[in-house]
Amino acid sequence: MSEIRDVIIIGSGPAGYTAALYTARADLHPLVFEGFQFGGALMQTTEVENYPGFPEGIMGPELMDSWRKQAERFGAELVSDDVTRVDLTGDVKKVWVEDREYQAKAVILATGSAFRPLNVPGENELMGRGVSACATCDGFFFRDQHIAVVGGGDTAMEEATFLTKFAAKVTIVHRRDEFRASKVMAERALANPKIEVAWNSAVTQVNGTDGKVSSVDLVDTVTGSARNLPATGLFIAIGHDPRSELFKGQVELDESGYVKVAAPSTRTNIEGVFAAGDLVDHTYQQAVTAAGTGCAAALDAERYLTALN
Ligand code: FAD
Repeated sequence: MSEIRDVIIIGSGPAGYTAALYTARADLHPLVFEGFQFGGALMQTTEVENYPGFPEGIMGPELMDSWRKQAERFGAELVSDDVTRVDLTGDVKKVWVEDREYQAKAVILATGSAFRPLNVPGENELMGRGVSACATCDGFFFRDQHIAVVGGGDTAMEEATFLTKFAAKVTIVHRRDEFRASKVMAERALANPKIEVAWNSAVTQVNGTDGKVSSVDLVDTVTGSARNLPATGLFIAIGHDPRSELFKGQVELDESGYVKVAAPSTRTNIEGVFAAGDLVDHTYQQAVTAAGTGCAAALDAERYLTALN
């Protein structure tokens, strides 16, 4: 059986590393499960221009590498494994990697969320090179260009409308002949002179030239006919799924699977279990907001541990 740690952190994105940095500086010797792919969502992107403190911008992997080093500098112990099982219900929380068990008095959940991919050729290869899942993050890079947005819900409408600030033209690609979005959001998008809609259309392939998106192949979902849509940006807006599977049945989740917290704190329904970042947040989903709640989770955990002693 392992020693009982003060705090275990699950996740290594902006929320997890910020929680690690703060708990390490509070002498709580956090054990951080980074997952197989350390660094979280920003490892999939190129330039990050909206993280405060970097006037020239910074590459996503470089930012996460610095964050990791900063947490390590203060004594956070990092483990590059995926947690496979948890029991968060008792006073002593248990976390497993396969059959190895770890214990702690407090746990911070920061496993983030994943956008739903299209699963078409070219999508992964061109991610961060014209393919994006975040208009707030990347819209600025597409000034005066033609952008395709895939989706038919509120998020797609919001992203498409937002992107018209920068783009010359935005084409919403939707597989049906009407939007699922709320009436007001759909009407706003349809009334925008820069927005066109490719109805009954699905993306079958993303094409690149010189390593950047140059067009997308579409298929008509009714007639089956194929066509090519020239575009230098492809924004995927068909939804996000929080990575909360591991915590189901223990921590309370909302109807979309996000972990519920007693906002503005990061406390979950279980004493000693805190949650932060995109795992909790379906509204903002930015590195800076994930870092903010990661900090809050560390401070909440620290106060919880102080009260226990
Ligand atoms: P994540 O960054 O998703 O990190 C979650 C971590 O949990 C990962 O390291 C994962 O490996 C780990 N994990 C998951 N399951 C387990 C497990 N079972 N065991 C152990 N670890 C686990 N935001 C901006 O502010 N500016 C931008 O320019 C920007 N660009 C983006 C570009 C792209 C392509 C994407 C996808 C997102 C972008 N974002 C940007 C959004 C930003 O990346 C997220 O809001 C932020 O990373 C969320 O942080 P997080 O710590 O909550 O989760």
